Amino acid sequence: MTQPVAASAETCREAGIRLKRGELVAFPTETVYGLGGNACESQAVAAIFAAKGRPAFNPLIVHVADLAMAQTLTVFSDAARVLAARFWPGPLTLVLPRREATGLSDLVSAGLPSVAIRMPAHPVARAILLAAGCPVAAPSANPSGRISPTSAAHVADGLGNRVAMIVDGGPCAVGVESTVLDLSGDSPRVLRPGGVTADEIAAVLGCPVDYAPAPVSGGALLSPGLMTSHYAPGLPVRLNAVEAAPGEALLGFGAVPGATLNLSPNGDTTEAAANLFAMLRALDTCAYRGIAVSPIPVAGLGIAINDRLMRAAAPRPDGQG
Ligand code: AMP
Ligand code: MG
Repeated sequence: MTQPVAASAETCREAGIRLKRGELVAFPTETVYGLGGNACESQAVAAIFAAKGRPAFNPLIVHVADLAMAQTLTVFSDAARVLAARFWPGPLTLVLPRREATGLSDLVSAGLPSVAIRMPAHPVARAILLAAGCPVAAPSANPSGRISPTSAAHVADGLGNRVAMIVDGGPCAVGVESTVLDLSGDSPRVLRPGGVTADEIAAVLGCPVDYAPAPVSGGALLSPGLMTSHYAPGLPVRLNAVEAAPGEALLGFGAVPGATLNLSPNGDTTEAAANLFAMLRALDTCAYRGIAVSPIPVAGLGIAINDRLMRAAAPRPDGQG
């Protein structure tokens, strides 16, 4: 069982060396903890899929230390350049056409002609990526279908026996995954709402941005990984609850008397996003028979929070994540 080690110059360097040679390392980003593997080593990428129990048709996000690396792997359009200048490093993933012969494992993009790529802002992630010197595939460091980890302890809980190293950089500041923006088609479209909103992207691009996340139930999938059931606690989740039913825990937002836990007593969606996954985990115990969640405004980070909550509340035929 791998125990977390505190982030330091030395442990970040060790993490980079381990990644470079094909081992799996979990590390913090500003969104959630990632399960990293060398994106140029198919063995390492396959090990990520195996450790998570993730279907291999669900492609991974490639993390880079700098813009130059992103540009060697993908065809960077003008829109990509403008968005990277404004939002990188940060919680925005760009889906761009893959360049030929980059050394990137085909498994990383599940055979698609595009690659999802991001430069994370967390100083520990940046130090590790710099030390690795290679692109690093890193989905959230949780077993597929479960709640994403926002602390090193969450990672140890779910994948402690599947990783060589867990670097502890404290709790994640953003708390929900990156926004996935597809720039490989005719017009930009958001495939997954996240840390950067579609409105912010549209303002920078000066053009409308389609908002086309995967449907919560059924329907065609634009992004293979964005399945119905995702981010799911073991207990049933009930949304837009005014109060708890008997036996339910109440996850509040704003001034909610009697909340078991409160995402943000002041009604701040940024604070709520940072608390979301840790509080869902804390309530996901046999002490309750379900989790009722207060309404969250559909604005700013609230868009991503509502997206994750709808997936947590959806029926669960398949485990994804
Ligand atoms: P995760 O790594 O678990 O945070 O999830 C990454 C998300 O990005 C998944 O929903 C993937 O389906 C999506 N994704 C990754 N690569 C691509 C791609 N080339 N085209 C469309 N979506 C992608
Ligand atoms: Mg995930």
